[in-house]
Amino acid sequence: MRATLIHGPRDIRVEDVPDPEVSLPTDALVRVTAACVCGSDLWPYRGIADVDEPRRIGHEFVGVVEEVGSDVRTLRPGDFVVAPFLLSDNTCVHCRNGMHTSCEHGAWWGGTDEAGLPVDAGQGEAVRVPIADGTLVAAGRDVPDDPMLASLLTLSDVMGTGHHAALSAGVGPGTSVVVVGDGAVGLCGVLAARRLGAERIIAMSRHEDRAALARDFGATDVVAERGPDGVARVEELLGGIGADAVLECVGTKESMDQAISAARPGGRVGYVGVPAGGAELPISTLFGRNVTVGGGVAPVRAYLEELLADTLSGAIDPGRVFDLVLPLEQAPEAYAAMDERRSIKAMLRP
Ligand SMILES: [Zn+2]
Repeated sequence: MRATLIHGPRDIRVEDVPDPEVSLPTDALVRVTAACVCGSDLWPYRGIADVDEPRRIGHEFVGVVEEVGSDVRTLRPGDFVVAPFLLSDNTCVHCRNGMHTSCEHGAWWGGTDEAGLPVDAGQGEAVRVPIADGTLVAAGRDVPDDPMLASLLTLSDVMGTGHHAALSAGVGPGTSVVVVGDGAVGLCGVLAARRLGAERIIAMSRHEDRAALARDFGATDVVAERGPDGVARVEELLGGIGADAVLECVGTKESMDQAISAARPGGRVGYVGVPAGGAELPISTLFGRNVTVGGGVAPVRAYLEELLADTLSGAIDPGRVFDLVLPLEQAPEAYAAMDERRSIKAMLRP
């Protein structure tokens, strides 16, 4: 089959790889309907994260179950499934605590499972899914139409991650929210904040198309300024103080500094940007202003059923973050388009 590999900075190739098969009784074989490129895939692409040797890449996909192992109970061939960006058993103590990202038996797409077998990555034609009962969530028996397909694909990562940022920042009914980052996660953070009942949602964006989508998703205001000017504008909009809740959806030092300074005294920052730019916490500042910083890698599996229900009902339509759809063979162009910010989020169709 064909799958995407990263060989080094700006070197993405689609190559022939061995066909996956059910190897363990707890495996499922999934034929990929759609996959996508994540903002965090851009860190190795840009050379910010090391690539020691060519490796499979991609951790967001949806598809159809083709075959299941003898111990798989919750899935059957023909199910349309959403795969969260990490594998988890959904039964261990961490999973029961809602921290599926710390699963005792978990693994990464493109990594190695507990049996020591390689795990396929998501940007390919098919995937062997270990601990399939815990990892995959069925979303019906039919491949959905394109808009619904796109929305379900966001449940792999960006919508659940935006939701985690909002929860970590304490967003609730009536709160004021600032979202730092206008990538797919930031935009989904806006949608998540609206869904959780935020009253004011300020999206920080300098790109007209992204700001327009943020408004559609529920942003009441858009602030184009950054740094101290951005904070001043936020305070002006919120009656002289910062926000109750700030979502940090980038992962750089600048974005974390922006987020912390946009929170009001006693406010909370929820961060989900994969740390890649030397961000550190200024403990004295946080102490003096009683600003709480929480968050981390989003346990999207924990939120999947809840967000799936609202997606299937049409209450949220996060799939609108996809503005580029390419065949799998054009994966290099998908990466380039996102790297150059010509695309918010690129979908790959095998
Ligand atoms: Zn677990």
